[in-house]
Amino acid sequence: MDNTLRAALDLLSDITPLKHDCGSLCDSACCRDEGELGSLVWLLPGEEDTHMPWADVVTTAMPVTQTQISAISCNSPCSRSDRPFCCRIFPLSPYYSEKRQEWDVRMDRRAAPICPLFHYGKAGLDPAFVEAARRAVRLLAGDPKWEQWLMRLQAEESAYRMEL
Ligand code: SF4
Ligand code: SF4
Repeated sequence: MDNTLRAALDLLSDITPLKHDCGSLCDSACCRDEGELGSLVWLLPGEEDTHMPWADVVTTAMPVTQTQISAISCNSPCSRSDRPFCCRIFPLSPYYSEKRQEWDVRMDRRAAPICPLFHYGKAGLDPAFVEAARRAVRLLAGDPKWEQWLMRLQAEESAYRMEL
């Protein structure tokens, strides 16, 4: 796996949205094969090489950008040490602030129908988690190749916001 992606993943390896297991609030709603998020978790290039025995790896097209991307369909709970980037930062999502001219994170609008944390906003999350997610996003954004992927993720999330 690319060193930059590995470092970004590592920033989020030991930290979660709340100081306790938020999955206990919702029976791990974001891991269930239902709801607005759909059944697939997108993988950033290289993540498909991770050993993920709890999931099936497939290829799919992102709906807005039509980017071909690997994704997983999960059959059972996973190990945090191996889960993909998009799961590690959820319910946050990367976005580029035109006003501040920098990458940051915001609540992922796709979390609205399923995540009990959504309506509390970033202020309701562990500040250390928000900061770790922000650092991970900015680390990726420092590499043009990964910044392209962040832009694709933002395009998908922004389009969902338009449909709310
Ligand atoms: S849906 Fe939200 S509260 Fe539930 S496990 Fe996922 S991130 Fe945590
Ligand atoms: S990879 Fe893990 S955290 Fe992500 S949806 Fe699957 S089971 Fe849940």
